[in-house]
Amino acid sequence: MYIGDYLGRRQTYSPDRLAIIDAGKQPELRLTYRQMNARANRLANWLHVHAGIEKGDRVAILARDGVEHLDVFFACGKLGAIHTALNWRLHWRELVGILRNTRPKVLIYSDDFTEAVSEIETALRGEAFAIRRYLHIEGQGIPGSQHLETCWQAAPDTPVSCESLEKEDIACLLFTGGTTGLPKAAMISHSMICWNVLNTVIHDLRHEDIYLNGFPLFHTGGLFTYLSTQVIFGNTTVLLRQFDPARALELIEREGVTVFAGVPTMYQMISQAPNWEQADLSSLRFCTSGGAPLPVPLVEKYTREKGIRFKQGFGMTEFGPGLFALPPEDAIRKAGSIGRPNYFVDVRVVNDSNQPLGPQQPGELVLKGPSRCSGYFNDPEAFAAVIDDQGWFHTGDIVRYDEEGYFYVVDRKKDMFISGGENVYPVEIESVLYRHPAVHMCAVVGVPDERWGEVGVACVVLKPGAQASEAGLTAHLEASLARYKVPRRIVFLNELPLSGTGKILKRELRAQLIENESR
Ligand code: AMP
Repeated sequence: MYIGDYLGRRQTYSPDRLAIIDAGKQPELRLTYRQMNARANRLANWLHVHAGIEKGDRVAILARDGVEHLDVFFACGKLGAIHTALNWRLHWRELVGILRNTRPKVLIYSDDFTEAVSEIETALRGEAFAIRRYLHIEGQGIPGSQHLETCWQAAPDTPVSCESLEKEDIACLLFTGGTTGLPKAAMISHSMICWNVLNTVIHDLRHEDIYLNGFPLFHTGGLFTYLSTQVIFGNTTVLLRQFDPARALELIEREGVTVFAGVPTMYQMISQAPNWEQADLSSLRFCTSGGAPLPVPLVEKYTREKGIRFKQGFGMTEFGPGLFALPPEDAIRKAGSIGRPNYFVDVRVVNDSNQPLGPQQPGELVLKGPSRCSGYFNDPEAFAAVIDDQGWFHTGDIVRYDEEGYFYVVDRKKDMFISGGENVYPVEIESVLYRHPAVHMCAVVGVPDERWGEVGVACVVLKPGAQASEAGLTAHLEASLARYKVPRRIVFLNELPLSGTGKILKRELRAQLIENESR
């Protein structure tokens, strides 16, 4: 009973229940469990016969949110193949690196990325590994590309299953930010997904819930916060093509949505949407926020103006989105907390010598449990570096817990900041800056921002006699990095604060920037 069987089981129990409302399509698509299962079987049959997809092969998708992500996810599950969802915010050059590492046989893409896929196809042409099929979801596609739906429509809907599949086999790859260059591909097993479902379901969902997904489906938040659980329950999920605050409000009201989940930036945007005031949100049982700290004034605004109960969640790609939960009744009393560990995760807070710490003592959060991923694809060293000799996974998050066992994120050990829910790793940006001939030293830090939570600022020291402008360096960064990683500002300095060993003191730099801004 693995991912590939979920839709088949649902077809047995509740074939005519509404599974998916794809509100990003024109006209909108409303699909039952029977229809979803038939789509996944057809696609699995097509992928097997026409693209030679077998157990363990990767099938990549570069697309806005939509039912095709689920078609591919479940079709791969049926074949024992590995669903590989790419972050469409990345630059095509970054995607080429990821594709060289993960070597998918098929690349499925939506219209917005035809240009990027054309660049990718040119860059990869003639390489030893080859993408066998390019499949476009809509539009014309690149030369030689085939229309996805026309392909699977022509295939039979006979059930597909992979007899040799084991629970520890890999169902999908999800990408974390790159601390040392390329994003790492966390290997998500069939069993990890089940344990994550258990972790989330215990606190959150009920039969009959209607869930509006705000997360991108290439992220752990999208596929696994509630979506996989909704399928198991036979409930309805509403998908947007891309997050749009006014549309989200409309859909909550129209479909009687009972659960919404998103990152804090989305809640900020929803509360400023033109239809916020008149929106009737009384169907919502609660909203879940995760991925970054949720500002307390926002919780208060939602509670005051719409009577909404807020849940705070904490998760990560490598362990699933359902790690910690703060129930609505604690939202104000324990404001700022990520709550308590969920049922099937063991946690500790440890000091630099890996010794467990007591209440109120900040230290690194380490985790153990069955919802841990199986490693990073093609990068065992990077995974070994985050697991200690007792098997604890080191998150790089600095937390403390209070006497009642509620946890608070206080800092991060990893050099990372979160902008609009996306993790940004400064080292990636700095390495591109260093490729500019005028840059002598640089450091990128995240500073607070009302809308995005944090935004990047690059501090740059130029080589003696060299010249560069803010616009010039920004254009240099934009040529190879995703837009959300490009710092909002570039500040030119004569020197950077250094430690005795010559390390750039980023905390000090960040404090200086914040102080200068507040003047
Ligand atoms: P990702 O793997 O992209 O989901 O990012 C995981 C990281 O996001 C965690 O290790 C934390 O640093 C951060 N994070 C996730 N949820 C929260 C939260 N509720 N509050 C603060 N940081 C969070």
